[in-house]
Amino acid sequence: MNVAASPNDLCEIIEADRNHVWHHLLQHKGLEINDPKIMVEGNGMRLWDATGKEHLDAVSGGVWTVNVGYGRESIANAVRDQLIKLNYFAHSAGSIPGSLFSERLISKMPGMSRVYFTNSGTEANEKAFKMVRQIAHKRFGGKKHKILYRERDYHGSSITAISAGGQQERNAQYGPYTPGFVEVPHCCEYRAQWDVDHYGERAADAIEEVILREGPDTIGALCLEPVTAGGGVITPPEGYWARVQEICKKYDILLHIDEVVCGVGRTGTWFGYQQYGIKPDFVTMAKGVASGYAAIACLVTTEDVFEMFKDDASDPMNFFRDISTFGGCTAGPAAALENMRIIEDEGLLDNTTLMGERLMANLHGLMEKHRVVGDVRGKGLFCGAELVADRATKEPVAEKLMQAVAADCMAQGVIIGVSNRAVPGLNNVICLSPALISTSDDIDNITDAIDGALTRVFS
Ligand code: PMP
Repeated sequence: MNVAASPNDLCEIIEADRNHVWHHLLQHKGLEINDPKIMVEGNGMRLWDATGKEHLDAVSGGVWTVNVGYGRESIANAVRDQLIKLNYFAHSAGSIPGSLFSERLISKMPGMSRVYFTNSGTEANEKAFKMVRQIAHKRFGGKKHKILYRERDYHGSSITAISAGGQQERNAQYGPYTPGFVEVPHCCEYRAQWDVDHYGERAADAIEEVILREGPDTIGALCLEPVTAGGGVITPPEGYWARVQEICKKYDILLHIDEVVCGVGRTGTWFGYQQYGIKPDFVTMAKGVASGYAAIACLVTTEDVFEMFKDDASDPMNFFRDISTFGGCTAGPAAALENMRIIEDEGLLDNTTLMGERLMANLHGLMEKHRVVGDVRGKGLFCGAELVADRATKEPVAEKLMQAVAADCMAQGVIIGVSNRAVPGLNNVICLSPALISTSDDIDNITDAIDGALTRVFS
C-alpha cells in the first residue's frame, strides 16, 4: 500500500494541522518541535501515516476501539446504503437498523432488555446517572440519589462524568464537581491496600464500608468497569464480583457496568461482565459497538428499570425526559449490526480468547526477562504490563521512561498505549488492545517490539 502524501501536500497538511487542530489528550508544546502524526489509511491491523510509514496497531485506533480492524468494506457499504435510504429521524420514532441491532444485541445479553441510543461513552453513562436520579425521585423521595464509583475507574469526560471518575490526574483542575458521587477503593491486588487472604472479598467489603458510612438509604447505584481500562488495566481479584453483587442486592443498589472498553468482544465474551457472572441493571457501551465506523454508544437496561419509567402514564413528568439528537442517526446501528455479524461469522470471540492467552503468555515471558516489568494483567485482548523502578518497593518508573518505551515501539512501527501520567502507582502501565482479528504473528510482533524497547530504554 502506498499512501504517502506528496511532499508539497504533506507540508500543507502538517501546517494546517499545526495551525488549526486542537488534539485530544495532547500537550501541544511538543508540536512546536515535532510534526503532528497524521494517519491516512488502515487495513486490518495495519495503519499508514502521511509519510507512508506502516504501523502495526496494538491499541485498536489508539483507544481500544477498532475491534474488527480497519478497512471493512461491508460496514462502509451498510452505512452508505442506510444513509441514502434514511440518514436521520429523531429517536422518538424507530428505525430499521435501530430495531434490528437492538434485537441482536439483546440476544447476546440475557437478562437485559432495552437499548437507549447515544453517541459517546460519556453520554451513555450520564443517561444511566440521570435514570438513577429519576428513580430516586420517583421511589425514594429523592433520597437514594448517590452514585458510587471506584478509584482508578473512568466514565467519561464531562463534568458529571469526571465527578464519577476515580483518576485524580484527569480531574484535578476541573472542579467544582457535580455533587452526589462517592468514591470506593480500587481492587488492584498488585497495589494491595489490605494485607489479607481472599483479597477480592476484602476489596468488595470496602465498598460495603462506604455504603454503611454514607447510609444505604442514600445510595442509588454503583458504577464500575468490569476490568478497569485507562486507570491501569486492573483485573478484578478472585471473589470480588460475587461479593459486589451480594452487596448491591443487600442494600437495594442498582449495578451499572461500564462496558465502554470491555464491551463487544474485547475480553473474549460479548461483554466483560459475562466473564464474572455479573447481573447488571445498566450496561453502557461505546467504542467497540461499531468499531469506530460510526459514532454510536448505548445504554442497555433491564425490563425492570424500563418499567419504572412508565408506571404512571397520567403524570406528564413520569417518563425519561431525555434526548440525544445524534442518538437518532441511523448510520450508528447500521454499522453496529454489521460489526456484530462480522464478530460472529468470523469467530472473533474465540480468536480473542486464544490470542489473549498468547499475549498474556508473552507478557509473562517479558516479566521473567525484564525486572522493570512488575506485574502483568489482562482478560482476552485487553492486557497491561505495569513498569516499576524497583520490584520490592513497586516504585513506578518515571513518566518520561514510559514515553520512551512508547516512542521506541513507534520507531519500530508498533503503536502501543501507555497510561496517561505517572501518579504514585497504578498508572505506569503499557496498555495493549489489538484488534480481535489478531494473528499469532501480530501478537508476537507486538511483544517483540516491547522486548526491544525495554532492553534499549532500561539497559
Ligand atoms: N468509560 C470508559 C471505561 C472509557 O474508557 C471511556 C473512554 N475512554 C469512556 C467511558 C468515555 O467514552 P467517550 O470518550 O466515548 O465519551
